[in-house]
Amino acid sequence: MRCGKRYRGRPRVREADPQDERRWIHSRAAYDGPCLRCGPEGILDIEFDLDRARRAINPRTLASRPRDQWRYRELLPLPAGARVAPLHVGWTPVENAPRLARWAGVRSLRLKDESRNPTASFKDRASGVGVARALASGVRVVACASTGNAASSLAGAAASVGLSSMIFVPEFAPEPKVAQLLVFGARVIRVKGSYDETWELCQRACEAYGWYNRNAAVNPSLVEGKKTCGLEIAEQLGAEVPDWVAVSVGDGCTIAGTWKGLQEMKALGFIRRLPRMLGVQAEGARPLVDAFEQRRDLEPGPAQTLADSICVGHPRNWRKALRAVRESKGAFVAVSDEAMLEAMRQAGRLSGVFGEPAGVAGVAGLRQAVEDGVVSRRDTALAIVTGSGLKDVKSAMRAAGKPVTLRPNDAELAAYLEDQPI
Ligand SMILES: *Cc1c(COP(=O)(O)O)cnc(C)c1O
Repeated sequence: MRCGKRYRGRPRVREADPQDERRWIHSRAAYDGPCLRCGPEGILDIEFDLDRARRAINPRTLASRPRDQWRYRELLPLPAGARVAPLHVGWTPVENAPRLARWAGVRSLRLKDESRNPTASFKDRASGVGVARALASGVRVVACASTGNAASSLAGAAASVGLSSMIFVPEFAPEPKVAQLLVFGARVIRVKGSYDETWELCQRACEAYGWYNRNAAVNPSLVEGKKTCGLEIAEQLGAEVPDWVAVSVGDGCTIAGTWKGLQEMKALGFIRRLPRMLGVQAEGARPLVDAFEQRRDLEPGPAQTLADSICVGHPRNWRKALRAVRESKGAFVAVSDEAMLEAMRQAGRLSGVFGEPAGVAGVAGLRQAVEDGVVSRRDTALAIVTGSGLKDVKSAMRAAGKPVTLRPNDAELAAYLEDQPI
Protein backbone atom coordinates (compact mmCIF):
# COMPACT_ATOMS: atom_id res chain seq x y z
CA MET A 1 0.00 0.00 0.00
CA ARG A 2 1.37 3.38 -0.90
CA CYS A 3 -0.16 6.74 -0.19
CA GLY A 4 2.98 8.82 0.25
CA LYS A 5 2.37 12.42 -0.48
CA ARG A 6 5.37 14.46 -1.60
CA TYR A 7 6.46 16.70 1.21
CA ARG A 8 6.65 20.19 -0.31
CA GLY A 9 7.79 18.57 -3.52
CA ARG A 10 10.71 16.81 -1.87
CA PRO A 11 10.63 14.50 1.14
CA ARG A 12 8.06 11.82 1.73
CA VAL A 13 7.22 10.41 5.08
CA ARG A 14 7.31 6.67 5.48
CA GLU A 15 6.07 4.57 8.27
CA ALA A 16 8.49 2.24 9.98
CA ASP A 17 5.58 0.10 10.98
CA PRO A 18 6.10 -3.14 12.89
CA GLN A 19 3.81 -5.08 10.60
CA ASP A 20 4.43 -3.58 7.24
CA GLU A 21 7.35 -1.32 6.59
CA ARG A 22 6.16 -0.52 3.08
CA ARG A 23 3.07 1.32 4.18
CA TRP A 24 3.00 5.05 3.65
CA ILE A 25 0.98 7.74 5.25
CA HIS A 26 0.16 11.32 4.40
CA SER A 27 2.07 13.83 6.40
CA ARG A 28 1.15 17.32 7.43
CA ALA A 29 3.99 19.78 7.01
CA ALA A 30 4.20 20.65 10.70
CA TYR A 31 3.51 17.17 11.97
CA ASP A 32 6.57 15.88 13.78
CA GLY A 33 5.27 12.92 15.73
CA PRO A 34 4.93 9.19 15.30
CA CYS A 35 2.68 7.44 12.82
CA LEU A 36 -0.92 8.45 13.39
CA ARG A 37 -2.07 4.93 12.66
CA CYS A 38 0.41 2.86 14.69
CA GLY A 39 1.05 5.17 17.64
CA PRO A 40 4.42 5.74 19.34
CA GLU A 41 5.93 2.45 18.08
CA GLY A 42 5.38 3.55 14.48
CA ILE A 43 8.32 5.87 14.06
CA LEU A 44 8.30 7.65 10.74
CA ASP A 45 11.07 7.94 8.23
CA ILE A 46 11.34 10.83 5.82
CA GLU A 47 12.26 9.81 2.32
CA PHE A 48 13.58 12.26 -0.22
CA ASP A 49 13.33 12.28 -3.94
CA LEU A 50 17.04 11.64 -4.48
CA ASP A 51 16.90 12.02 -8.26
CA ARG A 52 15.72 15.51 -7.73
CA ALA A 53 18.17 16.16 -4.89
CA ARG A 54 21.06 15.11 -7.14
CA ARG A 55 20.59 18.20 -9.26
CA ALA A 56 20.93 20.45 -6.21
CA ILE A 57 23.49 18.47 -4.23
CA ASN A 58 26.66 17.56 -6.08
CA PRO A 59 30.33 18.47 -5.67
CA ARG A 60 29.98 21.48 -7.94
CA THR A 61 27.03 23.09 -6.12
CA LEU A 62 28.37 22.22 -2.69
CA ALA A 63 31.71 23.92 -3.37
CA SER A 64 30.20 27.38 -2.93
CA ARG A 65 27.94 26.60 0.01
CA PRO A 66 28.49 27.47 3.68
CA ARG A 67 30.40 24.87 5.63
CA ASP A 68 27.64 23.94 8.05
CA GLN A 69 24.75 21.51 8.09
CA TRP A 70 22.53 23.77 5.97
CA ARG A 71 24.70 23.07 2.93
CA TYR A 72 22.49 19.99 2.48
CA ARG A 73 19.19 21.88 2.75
CA GLU A 74 17.51 19.99 -0.09
CA LEU A 75 17.97 16.84 2.01
CA LEU A 76 16.43 18.37 5.11
CA PRO A 77 12.72 18.67 5.96
CA LEU A 78 12.61 22.46 5.77
CA PRO A 79 10.42 24.66 3.62
CA ALA A 80 12.34 26.67 1.03
CA GLY A 81 13.77 29.80 2.65
CA ALA A 82 13.11 28.53 6.16
CA ARG A 83 14.66 30.57 8.95
CA VAL A 84 17.37 28.69 10.84
CA ALA A 85 19.21 29.44 14.05
CA PRO A 86 22.37 31.50 13.47
CA LEU A 87 24.65 29.21 15.46
CA HIS A 88 27.22 27.27 13.42
CA VAL A 89 26.23 23.60 13.41
CA GLY A 90 28.03 20.84 11.58
CA TRP A 91 31.00 20.49 9.22
CA THR A 92 32.93 19.33 12.24
CA PRO A 93 36.52 18.28 11.59
CA VAL A 94 37.63 14.74 10.87
CA GLU A 95 40.95 14.26 12.62
CA ASN A 96 43.43 11.55 11.75
CA ALA A 97 44.54 9.75 14.92
CA PRO A 98 47.35 7.29 14.03
CA ARG A 99 48.54 6.74 17.60
CA LEU A 100 45.05 6.12 18.88
CA ALA A 101 44.54 3.75 15.93
CA ARG A 102 47.45 1.69 17.21
CA TRP A 103 45.91 1.60 20.67
CA ALA A 104 42.51 0.57 19.32
CA GLY A 105 44.13 -2.04 17.07
CA VAL A 106 42.94 -0.83 13.66
CA ARG A 107 44.94 0.14 10.57
CA SER A 108 43.76 3.73 10.68
CA LEU A 109 41.40 5.72 12.84
CA ARG A 110 39.75 9.04 12.24
CA LEU A 111 37.76 10.96 14.79
CA LYS A 112 34.80 13.09 13.80
CA ASP A 113 34.86 15.60 16.59
CA GLU A 114 31.30 16.57 17.37
CA SER A 115 32.36 18.48 20.46
CA ARG A 116 33.08 21.31 18.03
CA ASN A 117 29.39 22.08 17.61
CA PRO A 118 27.96 25.21 19.29
CA THR A 119 26.83 23.53 22.51
CA ALA A 120 29.57 20.89 22.26
CA SER A 121 27.69 17.78 21.16
CA PHE A 122 26.28 15.91 18.19
CA LYS A 123 22.78 16.85 19.37
CA ASP A 124 23.13 20.34 17.90
CA ARG A 125 22.47 18.79 14.50
CA ALA A 126 19.00 17.62 15.51
CA SER A 127 18.12 20.69 17.53
CA GLY A 128 19.01 22.93 14.61
CA VAL A 129 16.39 21.20 12.48
CA GLY A 130 13.90 21.06 15.38
CA VAL A 131 14.11 24.77 16.04
CA ALA A 132 13.80 25.57 12.33
CA ARG A 133 10.69 23.37 12.19
CA ALA A 134 9.23 25.06 15.26
CA LEU A 135 9.86 28.50 13.73
CA ALA A 136 8.28 27.42 10.45
CA SER A 137 5.16 26.20 12.21
CA GLY A 138 4.82 29.20 14.51
CA VAL A 139 5.24 27.32 17.81
CA ARG A 140 6.84 29.50 20.50
CA VAL A 141 7.82 26.86 23.06
CA VAL A 142 10.12 23.92 22.39
CA ALA A 143 10.52 21.02 24.80
CA CYS A 144 12.50 17.87 25.32
CA ALA A 145 13.51 15.22 27.80
CA SER A 146 17.21 14.56 27.94
CA THR A 147 20.07 13.51 30.11
CA GLY A 148 21.69 16.73 29.01
CA ASN A 149 23.02 17.15 25.49
CA ALA A 150 19.75 17.17 23.57
CA ALA A 151 18.47 19.62 26.15
CA SER A 152 21.42 21.98 26.08
CA SER A 153 21.52 21.97 22.30
CA LEU A 154 17.81 22.75 22.15
CA ALA A 155 18.06 25.45 24.77
CA GLY A 156 21.01 27.04 22.97
CA ALA A 157 19.35 27.00 19.57
CA ALA A 158 16.08 28.31 21.06
CA ALA A 159 17.91 31.11 22.84
CA SER A 160 19.60 32.16 19.62
CA VAL A 161 16.23 32.83 17.96
CA GLY A 162 14.17 33.88 20.98
CA LEU A 163 12.04 30.78 21.54
CA SER A 164 11.30 29.50 25.05
CA SER A 165 12.48 26.05 26.08
CA MET A 166 11.00 23.61 28.59
CA ILE A 167 13.50 20.96 29.58
CA PHE A 168 12.96 17.77 31.55
CA VAL A 169 16.12 16.17 32.95
CA PRO A 170 16.49 13.10 35.14
CA GLU A 171 18.10 13.73 38.50
CA PHE A 172 21.41 12.15 37.48
CA ALA A 173 22.12 14.64 34.68
CA PRO A 174 25.71 15.93 35.15
CA GLU A 175 26.01 19.45 36.56
CA PRO A 176 27.88 20.99 33.62
CA LYS A 177 25.02 20.07 31.31
CA VAL A 178 22.43 21.48 33.70
CA ALA A 179 24.54 24.64 34.03
CA GLN A 180 24.50 25.02 30.25
CA LEU A 181 20.71 24.80 30.24
CA LEU A 182 20.31 27.43 32.90
CA VAL A 183 22.74 29.78 31.18
CA PHE A 184 20.69 29.48 27.99
CA GLY A 185 17.61 30.55 29.96
CA ALA A 186 15.73 27.27 29.72
CA ARG A 187 13.00 26.36 32.17
CA VAL A 188 14.48 23.23 33.72
CA ILE A 189 12.40 20.57 35.43
CA ARG A 190 14.50 18.03 37.28
CA VAL A 191 12.56 14.78 37.50
CA LYS A 192 13.01 12.44 40.42
CA GLY A 193 13.07 9.32 38.30
CA SER A 194 14.81 7.46 35.50
CA TYR A 195 15.44 8.83 32.04
CA ASP A 196 12.60 6.66 30.76
CA GLU A 197 10.13 8.17 33.23
CA THR A 198 11.41 11.65 32.45
CA TRP A 199 10.84 10.98 28.78
CA GLU A 200 7.26 9.83 29.31
CA LEU A 201 6.43 12.90 31.38
CA CYS A 202 7.74 15.20 28.65
CA GLN A 203 5.77 13.30 26.00
CA ARG A 204 2.56 13.79 27.91
CA ALA A 205 3.32 17.46 28.60
CA CYS A 206 3.99 18.22 24.92
CA GLU A 207 0.64 16.77 24.04
CA ALA A 208 -1.17 18.59 26.82
CA TYR A 209 0.40 22.02 26.22
CA GLY A 210 1.11 22.00 22.49
CA TRP A 211 4.87 22.51 22.74
CA TYR A 212 7.17 21.51 19.90
CA ASN A 213 8.48 18.08 20.87
CA ARG A 214 12.20 17.65 20.28
CA ASN A 215 12.33 14.04 21.43
CA ALA A 216 14.34 12.65 18.56
CA ALA A 217 13.06 9.12 18.70
CA VAL A 218 9.46 9.98 17.85
CA ASN A 219 10.19 13.03 15.74
CA PRO A 220 11.39 11.97 12.30
CA SER A 221 12.61 15.46 11.40
CA LEU A 222 15.29 15.29 14.06
CA VAL A 223 16.82 12.11 12.71
CA GLU A 224 17.20 14.08 9.49
CA GLY A 225 19.29 16.60 11.40
CA LYS A 226 21.44 13.79 12.75
CA LYS A 227 21.75 12.47 9.24
CA THR A 228 23.95 15.43 8.33
CA CYS A 229 26.82 13.75 10.18
CA GLY A 230 26.63 10.85 7.72
CA LEU A 231 26.35 13.26 4.78
CA GLU A 232 29.49 15.02 5.99
CA ILE A 233 31.49 11.86 6.56
CA ALA A 234 30.80 10.89 2.96
CA GLU A 235 31.60 14.30 1.57
CA GLN A 236 34.69 14.82 3.71
CA LEU A 237 36.20 11.39 3.10
CA GLY A 238 34.88 10.47 -0.37
CA ALA A 239 37.02 7.65 -1.71
CA GLU A 240 38.61 7.20 1.70
CA VAL A 241 35.36 6.24 3.36
CA PRO A 242 36.37 3.87 6.19
CA ASP A 243 35.47 0.20 6.61
CA TRP A 244 33.76 0.96 9.93
CA VAL A 245 31.93 3.88 11.51
CA ALA A 246 31.73 3.45 15.27
CA VAL A 247 29.27 5.39 17.40
CA SER A 248 27.67 5.14 20.81
CA VAL A 249 24.02 4.20 21.02
CA GLY A 250 21.36 5.30 23.50
CA ASP A 251 17.97 5.78 21.88
CA GLY A 252 19.45 4.82 18.54
CA CYS A 253 18.75 7.99 16.57
CA THR A 254 22.39 8.94 16.13
CA ILE A 255 23.43 5.68 14.52
CA ALA A 256 20.24 5.52 12.47
CA GLY A 257 20.61 9.09 11.26
CA THR A 258 24.28 8.70 10.39
CA TRP A 259 23.52 5.53 8.44
CA LYS A 260 20.70 7.22 6.54
CA GLY A 261 23.06 10.05 5.59
CA LEU A 262 25.69 7.64 4.34
CA GLN A 263 23.12 5.76 2.29
CA GLU A 264 21.82 8.92 0.68
CA MET A 265 25.35 10.02 -0.21
CA LYS A 266 25.98 6.67 -1.84
CA ALA A 267 22.78 7.07 -3.83
CA LEU A 268 23.95 10.56 -4.83
CA GLY A 269 27.31 9.18 -5.99
CA PHE A 270 29.59 10.79 -3.39
CA ILE A 271 30.85 7.42 -2.15
CA ARG A 272 31.14 4.07 -3.93
CA ARG A 273 30.70 1.80 -0.94
CA LEU A 274 29.12 2.00 2.48
CA PRO A 275 30.95 1.48 5.77
CA ARG A 276 29.77 -1.01 8.34
CA MET A 277 28.17 0.50 11.42
CA LEU A 278 29.50 -0.41 14.85
CA GLY A 279 26.92 0.41 17.53
CA VAL A 280 28.41 0.73 20.99
CA GLN A 281 26.44 0.49 24.22
CA ALA A 282 27.47 0.41 27.87
CA GLU A 283 27.59 -2.96 29.64
CA GLY A 284 24.98 -1.67 32.09
CA ALA A 285 22.55 -0.49 29.39
CA ARG A 286 22.81 -2.92 26.50
CA PRO A 287 19.33 -3.82 25.25
CA LEU A 288 20.35 -3.37 21.62
CA VAL A 289 23.48 -5.45 21.99
CA ASP A 290 21.32 -8.26 23.37
CA ALA A 291 18.66 -7.90 20.69
CA PHE A 292 21.38 -7.97 18.02
CA GLU A 293 23.22 -10.97 19.45
CA GLN A 294 20.03 -12.94 19.99
CA ARG A 295 18.58 -11.91 16.61
CA ARG A 296 15.36 -10.68 18.11
CA ASP A 297 13.39 -7.47 18.68
CA LEU A 298 14.08 -5.16 21.57
CA GLU A 299 13.32 -6.10 25.13
CA PRO A 300 13.80 -3.08 27.39
CA GLY A 301 16.35 -3.75 30.12
CA PRO A 302 18.14 -2.04 33.00
CA ALA A 303 20.12 1.16 32.53
CA GLN A 304 23.14 1.76 34.68
CA THR A 305 26.31 3.41 33.47
CA LEU A 306 28.35 6.52 34.18
CA ALA A 307 27.91 7.43 30.51
CA ASP A 308 24.72 9.40 31.13
CA SER A 309 24.12 10.12 27.45
CA ILE A 310 23.63 6.43 26.68
CA CYS A 311 22.05 5.43 29.98
CA VAL A 312 18.91 4.23 28.22
CA GLY A 313 17.07 1.02 29.07
CA HIS A 314 14.26 1.49 26.57
CA PRO A 315 15.72 2.86 23.33
CA ARG A 316 12.89 4.60 21.49
CA ASN A 317 14.42 4.23 18.09
CA TRP A 318 15.56 0.64 18.47
CA ARG A 319 14.07 -0.53 15.21
CA LYS A 320 15.99 1.98 13.14
CA ALA A 321 19.19 1.37 15.10
CA LEU A 322 19.01 -2.38 14.59
CA ARG A 323 18.19 -1.87 10.95
CA ALA A 324 21.23 0.38 10.46
CA VAL A 325 23.57 -2.21 11.94
CA ARG A 326 22.01 -5.17 10.17
CA GLU A 327 21.75 -3.49 6.77
CA SER A 328 25.35 -2.35 6.94
CA LYS A 329 26.57 -5.80 7.99
CA GLY A 330 27.89 -4.17 11.12
CA ALA A 331 27.77 -5.17 14.75
CA PHE A 332 26.85 -4.09 18.23
CA VAL A 333 29.28 -4.30 21.13
CA ALA A 334 29.08 -3.43 24.81
CA VAL A 335 31.87 -1.74 26.76
CA SER A 336 32.35 -1.35 30.50
CA ASP A 337 32.43 2.00 32.25
CA GLU A 338 36.12 1.38 32.93
CA ALA A 339 36.74 0.85 29.23
CA MET A 340 35.07 4.17 28.44
CA LEU A 341 37.18 5.98 31.03
CA GLU A 342 40.27 4.32 29.55
CA ALA A 343 39.21 5.41 26.05
CA MET A 344 38.68 8.93 27.38
CA ARG A 345 42.22 8.96 28.75
CA GLN A 346 43.78 7.42 25.64
CA ALA A 347 41.87 9.59 23.17
CA GLY A 348 43.05 12.59 25.14
CA ARG A 349 46.67 11.51 25.30
CA LEU A 350 47.03 9.95 21.89
CA SER A 351 44.95 12.32 19.78
CA GLY A 352 44.23 15.52 21.71
CA VAL A 353 40.48 14.98 21.43
CA PHE A 354 38.51 15.17 24.68
CA GLY A 355 35.19 13.35 24.73
CA GLU A 356 32.69 12.60 27.48
CA PRO A 357 32.29 8.89 28.33
CA ALA A 358 29.53 8.34 25.73
CA GLY A 359 31.55 10.55 23.40
CA VAL A 360 34.48 8.13 23.33
CA ALA A 361 32.42 4.95 23.65
CA GLY A 362 32.87 4.48 19.90
CA VAL A 363 36.64 4.37 20.37
CA ALA A 364 36.31 1.94 23.29
CA GLY A 365 33.91 -0.17 21.21
CA LEU A 366 36.35 -0.38 18.31
CA ARG A 367 39.09 -1.71 20.57
CA GLN A 368 36.63 -4.20 22.02
CA ALA A 369 35.45 -5.27 18.57
CA VAL A 370 39.05 -5.81 17.44
CA GLU A 371 39.65 -7.94 20.51
CA ASP A 372 36.46 -9.92 19.77
CA GLY A 373 37.57 -10.47 16.17
CA VAL A 374 34.57 -8.54 14.81
CA VAL A 375 36.73 -5.75 13.40
CA SER A 376 39.94 -6.78 11.63
CA ARG A 377 43.32 -5.21 12.38
CA ARG A 378 43.55 -4.44 8.67
CA ASP A 379 40.36 -2.38 8.76
CA THR A 380 40.08 1.39 8.67
CA ALA A 381 37.68 3.13 11.01
CA LEU A 382 36.08 6.39 11.97
CA ALA A 383 34.71 7.00 15.44
CA ILE A 384 32.22 9.76 16.03
CA VAL A 385 33.15 11.58 19.23
CA THR A 386 29.62 12.61 20.10
CA GLY A 387 30.14 15.04 22.97
CA SER A 388 32.79 17.07 24.77
CA GLY A 389 34.63 15.83 27.81
CA LEU A 390 33.94 19.14 29.52
CA LYS A 391 30.31 18.02 29.78
CA ASP A 392 31.27 15.54 32.49
CA VAL A 393 34.22 16.81 34.43
CA LYS A 394 33.70 14.32 37.24
CA SER A 395 34.27 11.38 34.92
CA ALA A 396 37.20 13.15 33.32
CA MET A 397 38.90 13.53 36.69
CA ARG A 398 38.20 9.89 37.39
CA ALA A 399 39.79 8.94 34.10
CA ALA A 400 42.81 11.18 34.29
CA GLY A 401 43.70 11.46 37.97
CA LYS A 402 44.93 14.43 39.96
CA PRO A 403 47.80 16.88 39.42
CA VAL A 404 50.71 17.18 41.82
CA THR A 405 50.74 20.24 44.10
CA LEU A 406 54.05 21.96 44.91
CA ARG A 407 55.15 25.17 46.56
CA PRO A 408 56.59 27.87 44.21
CA ASN A 409 60.07 26.62 44.89
CA ASP A 410 62.73 25.57 42.34
CA ALA A 411 64.30 22.93 44.57
CA GLU A 412 60.95 21.34 45.19
CA LEU A 413 60.26 21.23 41.44
CA ALA A 414 63.72 19.75 40.78
CA ALA A 415 63.17 17.07 43.42
CA TYR A 416 59.81 16.26 41.94
CA LEU A 417 61.27 15.96 38.42
CA GLU A 418 64.04 13.74 39.71
CA ASP A 419 61.43 11.48 41.19
CA GLN A 420 59.02 11.66 38.23
CA PRO A 421 61.01 12.43 35.05
CA ILE A 422 58.96 13.70 32.11
C1 LIG B 1 22.58 11.35 22.76
C2 LIG B 1 23.99 10.94 22.76
C3 LIG B 1 24.38 9.70 22.28
C4 LIG B 1 23.43 8.64 21.77
O1 LIG B 1 22.55 9.08 20.78
P1 LIG B 1 21.16 8.29 20.58
O2 LIG B 1 20.52 8.97 19.45
O3 LIG B 1 20.41 8.45 21.87
O4 LIG B 1 21.50 6.89 20.33
C5 LIG B 1 25.72 9.41 22.30
N1 LIG B 1 26.63 10.27 22.78
C6 LIG B 1 26.28 11.48 23.24
C7 LIG B 1 27.35 12.39 23.76
C8 LIG B 1 24.95 11.87 23.25
O5 LIG B 1 24.62 13.06 23.74
